[in-house]
Amino acid sequence: MDTWNLESLKSEITDILDVSTESYRADTLTMIGGEVPDVVVQIKRSKVTVAVYSAKLDMEDDLVVCPLPIASLNWRRIPKDELLVALASMIATARRIRESYHRKCRYCQKVVAPEYLDAEEACWICARDILGKPTVLAERRYFKTLQRPG
Ligand SMILES: [Zn+2]
Repeated sequence: MDTWNLESLKSEITDILDVSTESYRADTLTMIGGEVPDVVVQIKRSKVTVAVYSAKLDMEDDLVVCPLPIASLNWRRIPKDELLVALASMIATARRIRESYHRKCRYCQKVVAPEYLDAEEACWICARDILGKPTVLAERRYFKTLQRPG
């Protein structure tokens, strides 16, 4: 049976996911896809998990990523071709779920990810320019988005 090693699995997922950030911590490789983050894939020793990207603000108003897992596979037990098909399908599903969470700003009508809307359904630009809300949080969020590589 033709199976994966970690590097080739990572390389294939990088292509499917359009990876924008990647980190390795506590035996888990985390890859986040999308210019506006949409899907999170976590690879462990024998398990790969696909999750919908989700983020919320912590006490310091930093965005904390809280992935919402939809499926896990034992990637070492599944032949290469079958695993790739399954992962592509799981990633496409997670992406559609993420897009379904996006909302329209009630002021400018721009569709944005939920973490970029405030409690009054205003995007950060309208929160600042129309509602006159403090800009620190909004600008920090915006700059983080701009600084995302890829
Ligand atoms: Zn707006």
